[in-house]
Amino acid sequence: MELDYKALGLKVGLEIHQQINTKNKLFCACPTESEERIQGEIRRYLRPSLSETGEVDVAALTEWKKGKRYVYLLPDNYCMVETDEEPPHSINREAVKLALSFALAVNASPVDEIYVMRKIVIDGSNTSGFQRTAIVALGGQIEDKEGPVRIETITVEEDAARKVEDRDGETVFNLDRLGIPLIEISTAPDIHSPEKAMRVALTIGQILRMTGRAKRGLGTIRQDLNISIAGGEKTEIKGVQELELIPKIVAEEARRQYELLRIRDELRRRGLAPEKVREAFQPTDLTDLFRTTSSKVVKKELDKGGKVYGARVLGFKGIFGWEVMTKRRFGTEVSDYVKVFAGLGGIFHSDELPNYGITAEEVESVKARLNVQQNDAFVLVVGPEEKARAAMGTILNRVLMAFEGVPKETRAALEDGTTRFMRPRPGAARMYPETDIPPLRIDENLLEEARALVPESPEAKLKKYISWGLSEELAKSMLKNPNFDLFEALVTKYGSVLASLIANIFENYIKYAKSKGGKVEKLSDSDIEKIVRAVSEGKILKDAVQDVILQYTTTNLTLDQVLEEYRAISYDELRKIVRSAIAELSDQIKADKKKAFNAVMGKVMSKVRGRVEGKVVAEIINQELQTLSE
Ligand SMILES: [Zn+2]
Repeated sequence: MELDYKALGLKVGLEIHQQINTKNKLFCACPTESEERIQGEIRRYLRPSLSETGEVDVAALTEWKKGKRYVYLLPDNYCMVETDEEPPHSINREAVKLALSFALAVNASPVDEIYVMRKIVIDGSNTSGFQRTAIVALGGQIEDKEGPVRIETITVEEDAARKVEDRDGETVFNLDRLGIPLIEISTAPDIHSPEKAMRVALTIGQILRMTGRAKRGLGTIRQDLNISIAGGEKTEIKGVQELELIPKIVAEEARRQYELLRIRDELRRRGLAPEKVREAFQPTDLTDLFRTTSSKVVKKELDKGGKVYGARVLGFKGIFGWEVMTKRRFGTEVSDYVKVFAGLGGIFHSDELPNYGITAEEVESVKARLNVQQNDAFVLVVGPEEKARAAMGTILNRVLMAFEGVPKETRAALEDGTTRFMRPRPGAARMYPETDIPPLRIDENLLEEARALVPESPEAKLKKYISWGLSEELAKSMLKNPNFDLFEALVTKYGSVLASLIANIFENYIKYAKSKGGKVEKLSDSDIEKIVRAVSEGKILKDAVQDVILQYTTTNLTLDQVLEEYRAISYDELRKIVRSAIAELSDQIKADKKKAFNAVMGKVMSKVRGRVEGKVVAEIINQELQTLSE
């Protein structure tokens, strides 16, 4: 379904988080690269406490209610800052400098003084219960063909601990990622189409990588999206890792808000009042109706001593089955709330029954017991009594929210471009000053150092690539290649004579090997450098590189073995091979001098293909045949 986004008043803002390559973490001297080894673990519980204004954060309370325990794995390098047993050290100047250089590249205005703030973290991903964050610059903008997008803030912040596993009642994190500096760029909601959202994210990612200091690899850049339509609500969507998914996510969320508003209007049209729905919603123990059920899901819970609860939802016929996103219905939205708040697997609703082994007779007996009328719906949950009762309360709350339209939510991106409810959107006032860290003044020295790091514009880079001898087409595609920073580093090291070859490795040869079933993930950054170095030192020919990469990624050979196989041949070696071929073919040569050249060429090339250029072989064969006939 294609919506008219302009008419809907679609607004999208981006929050882009990029890990940066600094020697040390943001608030301690631990390195930002570490081994996979684990040397122990600690266990913690987080508890919400009152803020200065005497309130408890709603989102924090939600997490705490789940009674979760957190396990932190200790990597090879860690210190008491990561375990929150020691106050953080001063903010890493190098990270601030890199954020400033990005700020200058997009014409943002650096602040005078950097204050580190604490932002409440409620999912256990930080041992302190805070994420530390500091605004470095304000303003600036990103150009786009559909119009510029204003930047609101540029901050440096610490990355969260890396989630390893969710298991019964516990979440396990590794502390290796905690404290790695991130640059966070937040844009104004100036994006009005799904495609523009992707383009702007791409541009920001490119400028970040142009500093040459962006960390590389999966999970080093993350996009969050803030999406709303007119009459809807700003929804935060977390954890988008693939740029290609952004247009789909924006389109799905726009549709969800549009459908939720249509549901609201439909409820109004039906003349339903929330008070009446609340009144009619009487959670009822229906366990006895399912004593002999053939539904496996229900039976399994009842065997464990669980209960079936149900309630009538006045006037809601057809609403639970209403599709709000691809393959997700209003009933799915309600189910998500039940999963998060009540810890049950989900709900059954009348728009999908009979199904899941629940029979038409059981549906009829439920309807009779709950007094469900023609235009009503009903919901069922099954599980431990306490959870089932809590679930009924959660369902009623979410059902009543339908009268308002779109709830304030934080949602998680799913692989198919849809999203699921994670938690209520936290209130705005979640920042507190970090009193353990002194402010850092941005003086002329710091700005001067940052200016030296300001990346070139994409236009300037394009010109540079062309001046290195790349065709315009290759230069343009290289600019969009996620490896362009490595490309530039290699050209700087091995000279622009190899620029086209290096660009071809990234743009063509790796893709070719992949299309032939090659395991291209075997090819590391340092492997690529080794190949380039071999060409630069004359050990292999440029022409052999595509085959080297293909062979390396499709066999179990080491790179050294493959490079040896394609080792370039010296003139002396080649002359010997030519002479022995002529000797072997001497009878044939005497018989037909005209065909002699082709015969020798064929024989020699079969031995030296990929290791010497054909025209050199031809030249030497001609010389040798010449001396023969003299
Ligand atoms: Zn540390």
